[in-house]
Amino acid sequence: MNPTLRVTVWGEFRHEKKNPKVAALYPRGMHETIADFLRPHSDFTVRTAWLDQPEHGLTDAVLASTDVLIWWGHQAHDDVHNDVVAKIKTRVLEGMGLIVLHSAHYSKIFKTLLGTTCSLKWREATDKERLWNINPAHPITQGIGEYFEIPAEEMYGEPFGIPEPEQLIFISWFTGGEVFRSGATWQRGNGRIFYFRPGHETYPTYHHPQVQLVITNAVRWARATVCIPDHCPNAPALEPLPPDPEAAARSTIGHV
Ligand code: ZN
Repeated sequence: MNPTLRVTVWGEFRHEKKNPKVAALYPRGMHETIADFLRPHSDFTVRTAWLDQPEHGLTDAVLASTDVLIWWGHQAHDDVHNDVVAKIKTRVLEGMGLIVLHSAHYSKIFKTLLGTTCSLKWREATDKERLWNINPAHPITQGIGEYFEIPAEEMYGEPFGIPEPEQLIFISWFTGGEVFRSGATWQRGNGRIFYFRPGHETYPTYHHPQVQLVITNAVRWARATVCIPDHCPNAPALEPLPPDPEAAARSTIGHV
């Protein structure tokens, strides 16, 4: 594998152009803010891509040279082309890591990889969020401590329509009394997936140092360690086989 960890940060980049409040928090886009705190790490090579670029900025060459893809989307999930989603899925199954942020719980790529509704409860009312670190030995929580707080965030509440997480990392509590599985991992094929809840666009969440640390740790955890293309070969036997009288007939039919 490439010695540097190649990260692509993908952002929808629509709210920032329409909502002055979002633009004030993220003048060059949320994806660029995320890229900015990752770039100082010498083991990372970071680039960005967004929805309104050709192929959403995710050409075959970009995907082939991405070890970890970070995804933020919200209002335009349906604008993401299905063929691009299919290519991302293929790359995850090959080994690419995927970090899914906040409202991307409803992104096509997350829903197709998890296979469930991914629905949840929500409320935009400036709750305080307290994220409990319930997996302190996990690489994603290193340096985080027992919990951390985000002073103002959108609430997401259970039930969250996800498959049982393979590793549960964080549980959030909100001022309104709800709880939520706000950090969870799964493996699909050879790729690692991390969902991380915080990041509503009207709050400065991606400037929060501990949110930045979680995402940075998650990039290292999710990095691709292999790239194994999918194939389904007709395999010759490794040892001599007894005579098979039906083999000739079967070879004329082809693969069964
Ligand atoms: Zn939101």
